[in-house]
Amino acid sequence: MLDLIIIGSGPAGLSAAIYGIRANLDLLVIEKDYEGTGQVALSSKVDNYLGLPGLDGYSMGEQFRQHAVDFGVKFLEATVTSIEQDPSDKHWIVKTSDGGQQEAKAVIYAAGAVHRKLEAKGEEELSGKGVSYCATCDGAFYRGKVTAVVGGGDTALDDALYLSGLCEKVYLIHRRDGFRAAEITVNKVKAKENIELVLNAQVDEIIGDERVNSVRLKDGRTLDINGIFIATGSVPVTEVLKDTDLLNSAGYIVADETGITKAPGFFVAGDVRTKALRQVVTAVSDGANAATSAEHYITEL
Ligand SMILES: Cc1cc2nc3c(=O)[nH]c(=O)nc-3n(C[C@H](O)[C@H](O)[C@H](O)COP(=O)(O)OP(=O)(O)OC[C@H]3O[C@@H](n4cnc5c(N)ncnc54)[C@H](O)[C@@H]3O)c2cc1C
Repeated sequence: MLDLIIIGSGPAGLSAAIYGIRANLDLLVIEKDYEGTGQVALSSKVDNYLGLPGLDGYSMGEQFRQHAVDFGVKFLEATVTSIEQDPSDKHWIVKTSDGGQQEAKAVIYAAGAVHRKLEAKGEEELSGKGVSYCATCDGAFYRGKVTAVVGGGDTALDDALYLSGLCEKVYLIHRRDGFRAAEITVNKVKAKENIELVLNAQVDEIIGDERVNSVRLKDGRTLDINGIFIATGSVPVTEVLKDTDLLNSAGYIVADETGITKAPGFFVAGDVRTKALRQVVTAVSDGANAATSAEHYITEL
C-alpha cells in the first residue's frame, strides 16, 4: 500500500509530489497524458510566474516535471476511472482505464479544469495567436491595443474591467441584453468609457492570418481587434466524483487552501478546487498545502 496517490501532473500535482517526496512519503502520480504537465503546456508565454518570466508554457511544464523526476517521483500513465474508499480501514482504491488498481492511505486530486470553448470558426487555429481564455494570464500582452471579451457572467465582466485598464478599447460581446454578473460589476462596466457593449450578438468567426485581426458576428458586423478573450466559463474535471457529496453546484471540489475535503484522507489541489484565482502560482501553492495536509493525516494514522 502506498502512502499517497496524486491524480494529475499539472502544476498542482507536481508541486504536491515534490512536497510529498521530500516528506518521505511513498507516493505515485497518475497522469492520463503522455508525460503530461497540464494546461500550462498550452500557454504560448507565461509572464506572471515569479522568477521565470517569459517562458513558454510547454518549457515551464517540462521544468516542473523534470524537477519531480529528479527528486525520484514515480509516474503512472493512465486515466483514473474510479476512486473508492475501503469501508473497513478507510484506505483509498484508485482504478485506472488500463484495468489496474492502486491503493493508498491518502489521495490528492489535482485533475484541473478545462476552459469552455466558443466553437466558433477560427477559434482553434488562432488559439494562442490572439485567442485567449485567461485575461489575467495574457491581458498584459495587449497594452494599448483593442480587444474583445465574450461572455456575460462575472468572469467576463471582471475580464473586461481588467482589460479596460490596459487596452485602448474593449468590446464586450454577449449573446443576451442582460448580464448574469453582479449588479455592482455591471454598473462599473457601464461606467467605463473604453468598454463598448455589443449585446444580442454571437461570434461567427475569429479572423486573422498569423494573428487575430477581427471578429465577425452572426449579424454580419465585423469588429477590428488585436485579441479576443473567451470568458464563457470553465469546467472542472470531476466526472469520476459526480456521485459524491464533495462537489459544489458547479462541479468544483469544496475545500479551502489546506486542500482538506469532507472525506478524510481525500485532498484537493489546483484549478479543480473552489477558489477565486486559477493560475499556475495558486495551483503550485495548493499542491504544497495539500501534500502537507496529507502528510499530517498519514502521520496521525
Ligand atoms: C491557454 C492557457 C494559458 C494559460 N496561461 C497562464 C499564464 O500565463 N499564467 C498562469 O499562471 N496560468 C495560466 N493558465 C492557467 C494554468 O495553466 C492553470 O491554472 C494550471 O495549469 C492549473 O494547474 P492544475 O495542476 O490545477 O491543473 P491542470 O494544469 O489542468 O492539470 C491537471 C492534470 O490532470 C490530468 N488529468 C485529468 N483527469 C485525469 C484523470 N482522470 N486521470 C489522470 N489524469 C488526469 C490532466 O491530463 C492534466 O495533466 C493558462 C491556461 C491555459 C489553458
